[in-house]
Amino acid sequence: MTSDLTSHQLTAARPPIPIDYHPIEGPAQRLLVSGEQLHANACLHCGSDQQQLLTAGHAYTHAGGLAWVVVACAAHLARSHEHSPSEAPPPSV
Ligand SMILES: [Zn+2]
Repeated sequence: MTSDLTSHQLTAARPPIPIDYHPIEGPAQRLLVSGEQLHANACLHCGSDQQQLLTAGHAYTHAGGLAWVVVACAAHLARSHEHSPSEAPPPSV
């Protein structure tokens, strides 16, 4: 048996983390994110940490696991809210 696959291929860049992303609105999505994105330190969509970051929903690293609060910059968050017209008044309870 030749096993040359003993992996010492540790690179500086960490591998992306697969998550189930549950946005505030809309269906869940499968995404690959970095640790920064998972820890709400960077936009989930573009990876920016230079913008104001807003709560964008939750992410699960595996089924039944912990839910992480994830964030997105305002531009990306607004894009995911395109379907809800901002002019409509909030429903009175
Ligand atoms: Zn962004």
